[in-house]
Amino acid sequence: MTEEEIRRNIEEIKKRIEAAAHRAGRSAAEVQLVAVTKTVPPEKIMAAYQMGLRDFGENRVQEMVKKRGELPADIRWHMIGHLQTNKVKYIVDWVYMIHSLDRPSLAAEISKRAKAVGRTVPCLVEVNVAGEESKFGLAPEEVIDFIREVAQMPGIAVKGLMTVAPYTENPEEVRPVFRRLREIAAQVEAEQIPGVEMRYLSMGMSGDFEVAIEEGAHMVRLGTALFGARQ
Ligand SMILES: *Cc1c(COP(=O)(O)O)cnc(C)c1O
Repeated sequence: MTEEEIRRNIEEIKKRIEAAAHRAGRSAAEVQLVAVTKTVPPEKIMAAYQMGLRDFGENRVQEMVKKRGELPADIRWHMIGHLQTNKVKYIVDWVYMIHSLDRPSLAAEISKRAKAVGRTVPCLVEVNVAGEESKFGLAPEEVIDFIREVAQMPGIAVKGLMTVAPYTENPEEVRPVFRRLREIAAQVEAEQIPGVEMRYLSMGMSGDFEVAIEEGAHMVRLGTALFGARQ
């Protein structure tokens, strides 16, 4: 994919985000595009940066740390992949948001490290809505108890939920997954847990983001649709 193609993709994706938001009676301003840059080299990421994108997502700590050192300082780095507890210390100072909070031991580590650096790290709780064996995330029925536990921890702020829908050729098939995530967020909201907000639903990837936006996504995480197929 050339830099010119990346620029064209971004234009095109922005239009599709807008159209999907309008179909649902929403404003496109409510939908944040997070450009997923795993395996994408810095010069290609810069093409997206020059188009005004500032939110970038990585699923591996090592790659995110390396790219952060090579790219402009005003980029907001989102951790979207499975996060090993022993890697938290490398990102806790500066990561913009962790989308993949999925277990008490990880929450405890983020809390401990964040407190030590005097920060509160915004996190989304990952939910395995479809119950896929191969996926990380809490079962829907575990979410409220988990969030109650996290809400007691300093240095960590729950800001919403995230899910990765099953892979499908036909995005309509995963519409119920996105709808369910929104319903779970409403249930959490109704619990009125102090310090917990259900402000963001991070859902939708290259193959299904329009359906996710129609179902209420506030953050879509797009890699292939912007940068082409990964090697
Ligand atoms: C890779 C990845 C994405 C982006 O996937 P595409 O299909 O390339 O848009 C989104 N979310 C997570 C958690 C990912 O690992």
